[in-house]
Amino acid sequence: MTDERKTQLSRLPQVTTVLGQPEVQALTAELPRWAVVQAVRDELADQRRQLQASPTEPTEAKWLPAPATIEQRARELVRSPLRRVINATGVVLHTNLGRAPLAKQALRRVEELGGGYCNLEYQLDSGTRGSRQQPLGQILRGLTGAPAHLIVNNNAAAVLLTLAGLCAGRQVLVSRGELVEIGGSFRIPDVMRASGALLCEVGTTNRTHLRDYLSAVSESTAAFLKVHRSNFAQVGFVAEVSPAELAKSAHERGLLCLYDLGAGELQTSRRRPEREPAHDVEQLDEEGLGFASPREPTVAELIGQGCDVVMFSGDKLLGGPQAGIVCGTKEAIGPLARHPLLRALRPDKLTLAALLGTLELYRDGQPEQVPAWQMLHESESALRARAERLQAEAAQQGLVTELVRVRSAVGGGARPLHKPWSWAVTPPLPSDRVLTVQAALRCQDLPVVARIFAGRLLCDVRTIAASEVTIVAEALARAVVATPVD
Ligand SMILES: *Cc1c(COP(=O)(O)O)cnc(C)c1O
Repeated sequence: MTDERKTQLSRLPQVTTVLGQPEVQALTAELPRWAVVQAVRDELADQRRQLQASPTEPTEAKWLPAPATIEQRARELVRSPLRRVINATGVVLHTNLGRAPLAKQALRRVEELGGGYCNLEYQLDSGTRGSRQQPLGQILRGLTGAPAHLIVNNNAAAVLLTLAGLCAGRQVLVSRGELVEIGGSFRIPDVMRASGALLCEVGTTNRTHLRDYLSAVSESTAAFLKVHRSNFAQVGFVAEVSPAELAKSAHERGLLCLYDLGAGELQTSRRRPEREPAHDVEQLDEEGLGFASPREPTVAELIGQGCDVVMFSGDKLLGGPQAGIVCGTKEAIGPLARHPLLRALRPDKLTLAALLGTLELYRDGQPEQVPAWQMLHESESALRARAERLQAEAAQQGLVTELVRVRSAVGGGARPLHKPWSWAVTPPLPSDRVLTVQAALRCQDLPVVARIFAGRLLCDVRTIAASEVTIVAEALARAVVATPVD
């Protein structure tokens, strides 16, 4: 290092000098002292690195960091690392954005039960120890028709526990068309291996018949497992065995019929679909396949058809907290309740509270109070009205936008063919600015996550709450103005 560079570095102020400045001192009235100290250290370290790297002569004035810079750094240090965002993607169960937003009733239960003590594992009548699985029993029996149940951390845990508890060391027959991978790391063959059960593939990729299962049955077979094709679909020359048929054949042979349902709808829509209105605006249709989304079986239907165990997620179509629900016969659930893995997979009281609040809404015939249910069943006319409001509010902010008809997605690895029409607001942008404006939306104080499709930046109103429209309009206007045109 040259002598000159050394003197430059030595002229950097001490941490205590910077902290002694009245404006910096004043910051500690509002921000924790550790954050202000850390901010000063980080800023000085950055300046030191810059001095060492840069060949240019620094000006003396730059050497006392501006209090505003320190404040900004300190605020970033104390800002919550988990932040609320606005989902403008139109993907209702966006796994990266936390899947299902909770219903007010679920949040009320979390506040009430999480903020104090509760009878989590305590029987109030006898004053003796109880099971945390017990309190939700009655409501789950009513909604699923299954006499027994267990709640675990998520559906992956539900499948793992079921296979470990009922099939370890024995064969489980699965159709080759159902060896699914769900986003991330859930793959049926891998979970099967981890559980100690032995996977026996039957049938072919596109067609599996009852005779395929029957001819594979051996002394060591424990169960037939059906896995819902949650995140993909098969079309063309395809065949699968219905759960009713599979359960009947399993029982005739003393075997179990298990069903990994994944998304787990408790009830199907009571609303009739709207008639398609005429549209004179641009429509961005990302599939054009015209598939009708097949009706999915509900949990109660599968139990009614004789499945011994049905497993599903709490935060997919149910719209509750992350959880896995295993429901079925007393004979099948009993060994799972005694299995040592259950202790490792059990849910905490906050999950149970939120799940209870969500299930209460289904029990009381108010599924529209569940945000994910409401978003998925929103009428196209209501969506259009919300998009028009967003467009009008953006115009008030000085931003001209267009309205386009788009397709939303269910997401969360559920109902891959269901792409309901929705409405989006899109700012007219040259293609080289689409990504920068999308990034600028993410960098707002309340980040807005928007989707790009067909070269357009879309704010799909299906997942934007009515109370968020104004925030999105303002953020959009700011983001378009803030990103330079070059
Ligand atoms: C989503 C899904 C899972 C995993 O459920 P998580 O609750 O995300 O753990 C397992 N099986 C199927 C069929 C699914 O759709």
